[in-house]
Amino acid sequence: MRKKIIAGNWKMNKTVLEAIDFVGEIHDDIDTSEVDVVICPTFLALSEIITLLEDYQSDIKLGAQNMFYEEKGAYTGEISPNMLYDLGVEYVIIGHSERRQYFGETDEIVNKKVLKAIQVGLKPIMCVGESLAQREAGDTFDLVRNQVIEGLKKVGKDQVQEVIIAYEPIWAIGTGKTATSEQAEEVCKYIREALAEMYGSAVANTMRIQYGGSVTKDNAKELFNMPNIDGALVGGASLKEDFVSIVNYNE
Ligand code: PEP
Repeated sequence: MRKKIIAGNWKMNKTVLEAIDFVGEIHDDIDTSEVDVVICPTFLALSEIITLLEDYQSDIKLGAQNMFYEEKGAYTGEISPNMLYDLGVEYVIIGHSERRQYFGETDEIVNKKVLKAIQVGLKPIMCVGESLAQREAGDTFDLVRNQVIEGLKKVGKDQVQEVIIAYEPIWAIGTGKTATSEQAEEVCKYIREALAEMYGSAVANTMRIQYGGSVTKDNAKELFNMPNIDGALVGGASLKEDFVSIVNYNE
């Protein structure tokens, strides 16, 4: 039985003080007994939030929204995986469609980041997903499969179980247009089949595949009841109290 994992991607929202206030508001109501819960604030708030979660004795985990694939050096403005790990960060989102779209991240870069994150001890949440044009052209399955294969290149069987795949159709991100639970399940199932071809079904069956794209407190339960959807990467709704209802979807 795979434990669900629900991660909040705050993107470029909330100042450090706002982040502290928000965690103060929600931490007590978040039930982590059956779900792994991850929040991914701005880099600037990571240090404060980790201390806060320790003070609250909370089981909410911390994730970063990005990282560079080198450990140190002359890379002005970048954040290294060791810096994150050293702080107590456990997860890192890699290859979000916004990073692919606005910052030129290719599958090759995504792969370098995934490999380095694993090497350093971070758990990557690797994002894949098609645009509306690609879906309408019938390319969804080939494209997503290729993103999975390229993103996981040289990732061994013993390491891949640390990787979480987030299926995020670009047309559903921040648009209020959620994929239906059947559409989301269909692609997540396909991703699991691709993983089974790469690593064998025993490994593929232990791996967690999230759906992301306009998840709300109203559609979360139906999505999470699908056999191949093991949680969500949540953007907009993770900035509000609604995140509590999404995490506690079974209550
Ligand atoms: C995301 O940023 O990964 C995301 C899914 O955003 P939203 O939930 O706002 O669509």
